[in-house]
Amino acid sequence: MLPIDPWAEMGRRAWVACPNCDDSRDCHRCLAKRTCAEHWRYILASYGSVLRLQCPGCAHLWEHETGFGATRGRTGPASGAAF
Ligand SMILES: [Zn+2]
Ligand SMILES: [Zn+2]
Repeated sequence: MLPIDPWAEMGRRAWVACPNCDDSRDCHRCLAKRTCAEHWRYILASYGSVLRLQCPGCAHLWEHETGFGATRGRTGPASGAAF
């Protein structure tokens, strides 16, 4: 487990459920797809339509396919093109 990246910009947030702790599961604001003040993730990087996120709650790091945005050739750690 890595510490929270101190260089993560506070302005770069994403509202995506954390696959590790799923802390937004019971939050009515998150369920309503609102921008919740508590349950957001740091956007550490983005390439194409993929975001590299970190959960402030459990420090989990993962990649999230947003399904929109420029889908030019994917660079970086490709995690299988199964879908
Ligand atoms: Zn988490
Ligand atoms: Zn929430």
